[in-house]
Amino acid sequence: MNIDIAIIGRGMIGAAAARHLAEAGRSVALIGPDEPSDPQTYQGPFASHHDEGRITRIAGRDEVWTELAARSIARYSDIAARSGVEFHFARGMVAAYPDAPDWVTRAAIWGSEAKLIEPDWLRANTGIAIDYGMPLMYEPAPAGHIDPLALVAAQTTLTEMAGGSVIREVVDSVRRTATGFDVGGAWGTLTASRILLATGAFGADLFGFELDVERRPRTILRAQLADDGRIPSLIAMDPPDGRVEEIYWVPPVRYPDGSVCIKIGGNLKEFTPIASSDLTDWFHTDGDPVEIESLEANLRALLPDAPLGAINTAPCVITGTPSGHPHVGWADDGVAVALAGNGSAAKSSDELGRIAAALFSEAGWDSDIDQSVFAPQLT
Ligand SMILES: Cc1cc2nc3c(=O)[nH]c(=O)nc-3n(C[C@H](O)[C@H](O)[C@H](O)COP(=O)(O)OP(=O)(O)OC[C@H]3O[C@@H](n4cnc5c(N)ncnc54)[C@H](O)[C@@H]3O)c2cc1C
Repeated sequence: MNIDIAIIGRGMIGAAAARHLAEAGRSVALIGPDEPSDPQTYQGPFASHHDEGRITRIAGRDEVWTELAARSIARYSDIAARSGVEFHFARGMVAAYPDAPDWVTRAAIWGSEAKLIEPDWLRANTGIAIDYGMPLMYEPAPAGHIDPLALVAAQTTLTEMAGGSVIREVVDSVRRTATGFDVGGAWGTLTASRILLATGAFGADLFGFELDVERRPRTILRAQLADDGRIPSLIAMDPPDGRVEEIYWVPPVRYPDGSVCIKIGGNLKEFTPIASSDLTDWFHTDGDPVEIESLEANLRALLPDAPLGAINTAPCVITGTPSGHPHVGWADDGVAVALAGNGSAAKSSDELGRIAAALFSEAGWDSDIDQSVFAPQLT
């Protein structure tokens, strides 16, 4: 097969970029495996976090993340309608942050009706107890959560509908040739003029350069909880158990085994970054015992009346950059990258994919966010 652009990595950013490229009439192949059915034995590569839920919200930590989210969310309904795959559940979001008033202001620019709230309102309307003096914000629909597996499925479907090729396999090797690249794996080989690397935590392992990213091991805890429809998505700084500096949760969603679970995660204050060569071993664990204890304590403290059932845990990885923004740009001759979501890119993946796709157009950059914000840094 001979194509113009090979997109390596079929996570949320890669699948979005492939859709935008295919719908712009480019000849593309989107290459990446489905999520593993048995992570404990799978040899990789893994996505950042194999799970059914991610928070979505317009209000972001800064102007860049707010714009990326707002532009992506505005396209959710079109993606769902045309692909026939539902992935967005608009049940609101709460943020407990020192600068919550600034979040409200930033979100309002993009049409959000986010507002500041009081602890009593929060407890009465959602059952969440946050009364440690942190300013609180509530963002109504379209904030809520998305199903990342369904979003990737939707983007993949639209890529195929627009004439793109999809190879649900791993790329094992990339070889530079006089005219482009030979991209190969157990499935065979294709030739591509250019490459978009959207490989998440696995970064530029297939190439001879190293991106400036930090791979942060993270753990999530899922607790069975009947869904009363009142619990929104949540992110909170300085939660009661201080071994994590920040926590988030996704409201109860149904998992493939039929259980309905709330999922909580956070940022452990003390952790050691991991090398890409150790990622697979990390994904074969159940996560970090200290983080698990802290997450459970925080979940019980913030939802004091919730009858939590069986608990399970899982490891995952956040790919961070010094700037706190993803790397999107050209990293080598003929090789662009779009990765390092800094724990925030699921909701914003469609706009990140669109910006990455534009790199392959004549204009080269198509965003009012300055290109330097996303410039890939090599080490
Ligand atoms: C625990 C956790 C919770 C999160 N919660 C949220 C949230 O609530 N809201 C939010 O917006 N964001 C959230 N995020 C962040 C979000 O999930 C990531 O930013 C997003 O997944 C990044 O997308 P990506 O496409 O860059 O990478 P990934 O989703 O990691 O996808 C990369 C893909 O590349 C593939 N790949 C790698 N190497 C190869 C290869 N050689 N050949 C083929 N394929 C390859 C992998 O298999 C994978 O499918 C969370 C992240 C974590 C870890």
